[in-house]
Amino acid sequence: MAYIIKKATFAKSSSKFTECPEDELPEFAFIGRSNVGKSSLINKITNKKDLAKTSQTPGKTQLINHFLINEKWYLVDLPGYGWAKVGQEKRMQFSKMIKNYLLQRKNLKCVFVLIDSRLEPQAIDFDFLNFLGEKQVPFVIIYTKIDKNSSSQTQKILAQHNRELMKTWEELPLRFMTSSQTGAGCEDLKDYMKIVLDEAKQIQNLEETSQTQKSEETSQIDETIEE
Ligand code: GDP
Repeated sequence: MAYIIKKATFAKSSSKFTECPEDELPEFAFIGRSNVGKSSLINKITNKKDLAKTSQTPGKTQLINHFLINEKWYLVDLPGYGWAKVGQEKRMQFSKMIKNYLLQRKNLKCVFVLIDSRLEPQAIDFDFLNFLGEKQVPFVIIYTKIDKNSSSQTQKILAQHNRELMKTWEELPLRFMTSSQTGAGCEDLKDYMKIVLDEAKQIQNLEETSQTQKSEETSQIDETIEE
């Protein structure tokens, strides 16, 4: 059954990793080059027209935006990477913010890396994927705007991407083919999120159970000592 996003509200914009909301809820982050279709996809899957602002001025908003979904998890809109028009100094700061977030955010379950399905492999995307791989940050690839090309054209581009990916990875990472225009792939993406969230919940429950068991064991020991 399809996963339904009933409620999606803006939670917070942060200009530094340390300003992000408390990390007690699981979260998914969306990232990609400017104009890749990130805002459109976020709005599509949350079924909200203007939740994420479509970027008129690329690179201007260098903020981490948290959206609270179904009051249970966060969807995070990260600033686009590799935007050339940002001056050297600012770009460093910008990438440091993303880097800190990706490497230190404890509740980050998966990074969704958006790539335009019409473009042949771009070094900047692959550098970013390799960075995530090296640092063992879980990610999946989301190809965007698949409505814009014929399916044979998309397959051709995809084959190029797969060849490039196989240079680094033994197995192809998980990939989704999406369109915010037609909604293609959006249900699959939400189903995937649901699977990851359920897994996270199970792990949390197991951890809580083992914590309770541990404290029960400790109190038993205490009682034995008292006797
Ligand atoms: P962002 O900069 O990554 O947030 O990209 P936007 O969501 O603002 O999209 C950039 C441009 O691509 C806008 O003109 C969108 O209307 C267009 N766009 C985004 N997604 C799609 C899509 O799936 N299909 C088509 N045809 N256009 C799209």
